[in-house]
Amino acid sequence: MVLQKFDIVIIGAGCAGLQLLQQLSLLENWPDYKVLLIDDGAEKQQSWCFWSASGHPLQHLVTKTWHQLTFSAASFSTCQPIQPYAYHYIPGSVFFDYFNHQFIPQHSNITVMRARVNHVTKLGGGYLIKAQEMQWWGQTCYSSLAPKESPKPELWQHFKGWYIEAEQDVLDTDTAILMDYTVQLYNKVHFVYVLPFSGNKALVEATFFSERREDEETYDRLITAYLHQAFPYIKFKVTATEVGCIPMSRHSFSRYGAAGEVLIGQAAGMVKASTGYTFNRITRDSILLAKHFGEKLPYQWPATRGRFRFYDQLLLNIIIAKPYIVRDIFTRLFRHATMPQVLRFLNEQTTLAQEVGIFLHLPWRPFLKQAVKHIFNRSGTK
Ligand SMILES: Cc1cc2nc3c(=O)[nH]c(=O)nc-3n(C[C@H](O)[C@H](O)[C@H](O)COP(=O)(O)OP(=O)(O)OC[C@H]3O[C@@H](n4cnc5c(N)ncnc54)[C@H](O)[C@@H]3O)c2cc1C
Repeated sequence: MVLQKFDIVIIGAGCAGLQLLQQLSLLENWPDYKVLLIDDGAEKQQSWCFWSASGHPLQHLVTKTWHQLTFSAASFSTCQPIQPYAYHYIPGSVFFDYFNHQFIPQHSNITVMRARVNHVTKLGGGYLIKAQEMQWWGQTCYSSLAPKESPKPELWQHFKGWYIEAEQDVLDTDTAILMDYTVQLYNKVHFVYVLPFSGNKALVEATFFSERREDEETYDRLITAYLHQAFPYIKFKVTATEVGCIPMSRHSFSRYGAAGEVLIGQAAGMVKASTGYTFNRITRDSILLAKHFGEKLPYQWPATRGRFRFYDQLLLNIIIAKPYIVRDIFTRLFRHATMPQVLRFLNEQTTLAQEVGIFLHLPWRPFLKQAVKHIFNRSGTK
């Protein structure tokens, strides 16, 4: 069997693999590279929301933008403009249609293979990538596959969403609801997230931060109770559903897999541990990966900058140890910081002084307790 050779192999044609492909295509000598994209063809269900202050490389795929965000809890509610940001939505169908039917066919240097990769090893200054009955060689290999020995996250953001259609226009189409804690049915961290696409169509999602998924009825009951409270006299029909599970990991991630292949996306720790937002982090990472590939530089930047990883870990520790105070933490956060400040903080673009300003208003005891525990645990493992 002849071993097909490529300059670049990308394993996984998902959010990270395709965004990286797009960024690599901007390199000056891109047509000279022979590129292989391998995907197992598993069904892809998700759509993505993200916020950005300026144009995103995939802005043309955005089908809906909101300029205001709402946070609500029993004791406090706020709806604010988010300038300089805007909150965008890209449906998965639009994203994958664009790459599969427009972008890839326009680039004759890309070969697409449907196969389930099961092994990557170092070979001859590059990588041997093996699937069941096939194998390829790549000079450079980017992989969406998490190393087998990766620690399992203790916490998940898991959710079920209903795409609903109301019998009349009742929704504010310029405002997305980031977190609504007003309906509390369970002894767990949970809230409702709403994306109104038009006056009568929306995605309403029941979201939990906890150790494991719930049965379907648990999410359904929360969405039903929320709709009943928010729109008591309106009838809705459910046109589709979405389920998902995003890891909220306290562990650190490596940039490289066991054979030295470059990890991308979720496998490289691009999920923001405290929120689950990943799309824009993957965009930023893809831009850097392509730049460093073009300039032959090492890939040496962390998925999450030092102190922000620490903040994320503290919040995750609190969610595990004291889930009942999490609603109060978010309420205080949104009461004292503006929406753009919160978004900048979640983007990890705030200064230390701005972060102190935010933390001053949060319940300091649990954070201090978790910080001390964290420091002792770390020194204990040295
Ligand atoms: C339902 C849902 C909704 C989400 N919504 C948002 C959101 O609104 N905003 C946000 O920022 N983040 C969101 N996320 C989180 C995040 O954006 C995604 O998890 C993101 O898709 C991660 O990108 P990835 O490329 O690492 O993984 P994926 O997109 O899952 O891509 C991995 C690809 O590799 C393929 N693959 C897997 N194993 C193999 C194998 N052995 N061989 C070959 N191919 C393989 C898969 O089929 C897939 O195509 C959401 C996640 C989910 C699940």
